[in-house]
Amino acid sequence: MSQDVILSLQNVTRRYGADTAVDRVSLDIQRGEFVTLLGPSGCGKTTILRMVAGFVAPTEGDVIYDGRRINDLPPYARNIGLVFQNLALFPHLNAFENVAFGLRLAGVAAAERHHRVSEMLALVGLASLGQRPVHQLSGGQRQRVALARSLVTRPSLLLLDEPLSALDLKLRRQLQVEIKRIQQQTATTFIFVTHDQEEALTMSDRIAVMNRGRVEQFAAARTIYQRPRTAFVAGFVGDTNLVPGIVTERSADHVCIRHGWSLMEHRYRLHHPIACGVGADIAVSVRPECVRIAAPAETLPCRLDGHIVQTEFGGPLVTTTVRAAGHTFTVRQTSGDPALLNLAPGSLTQIGWDPADAVIVE
Ligand code: ATP
Repeated sequence: MSQDVILSLQNVTRRYGADTAVDRVSLDIQRGEFVTLLGPSGCGKTTILRMVAGFVAPTEGDVIYDGRRINDLPPYARNIGLVFQNLALFPHLNAFENVAFGLRLAGVAAAERHHRVSEMLALVGLASLGQRPVHQLSGGQRQRVALARSLVTRPSLLLLDEPLSALDLKLRRQLQVEIKRIQQQTATTFIFVTHDQEEALTMSDRIAVMNRGRVEQFAAARTIYQRPRTAFVAGFVGDTNLVPGIVTERSADHVCIRHGWSLMEHRYRLHHPIACGVGADIAVSVRPECVRIAAPAETLPCRLDGHIVQTEFGGPLVTTTVRAAGHTFTVRQTSGDPALLNLAPGSLTQIGWDPADAVIVE
């Protein structure tokens, strides 16, 4: 194990009776990283956090923290901070005393306590509100108190379970930026749970995309979006078009594919080791912004004829739904694109993409 790995989950499984909530998950998280567990409701994100925190024991596998197996270590002995959706602040205490709570418990002397709490309140932008009872604070301010309270004891690892889900969109965006800044300033490792893909993409160094208890891909945010490994990841993180085809030729890092409508073969690069021999059915993921509606006389490498179903004007971008070769395609182009003139529903069109912009998925 690299010495920069702070947390290593090794084949961790958690079963409840016959149900498997977390299924053989292995993840190495680097010190100082911002990692997000992303996936639909019930995929096992919270169960992973609870195993790391010590509230739930793995049925199988090991949790290694700072080089030590901690499967049987109680939560209070782990030096891992927690911020949950239900903040559980003390309503009768002011912001300052809420933040000071953990330090009091640890027996930190008054002067040191005062210094650390003040520093932490300043970090989360609440320097002037320390004396306010928490019930007189807004939702976003309470969230900041919860963050300060978890960080003041200087944990090496902070677990955050959907901390922003109760906030309105604007506040949520603002706090996303702030949480990221605080994470960088304190150089703490964060594991953040969300089912909001945009939140995961903006905040994370790496994202673990989960589906039914398993991690389908663990990679940098950009890689997850541009090079999804599976059809699930491609569809869950961003919009995509999954286009079927048949493998006609296979080399170590390329495949040739024939799509049903075309007599031509198209050569795609393989970004992941995918088992697909000649004759296999395969799916190609093409993001809507990588599909184009061809301008008159424009030739696109991989193209097909279709007709416009509808056009949605969204300010800078126009999203067009096109029906072609028995599939419904979503196409997104900048609204100034000349190819977008006169796209009445029902009108004939040609769409296409460059195979270099597409990804073969499992
Ligand atoms: P959400 O986004 O809805 O919070 P999640 O990805 O965090 O979902 P988990 O809470 O980890 O999902 O749950 C994973 C699966 O394990 C679910 O099917 C859930 O019903 C089940 N589960 C979780 N805790 C228990 C428990 N204590 N007893 C039985 N089943 C449980």
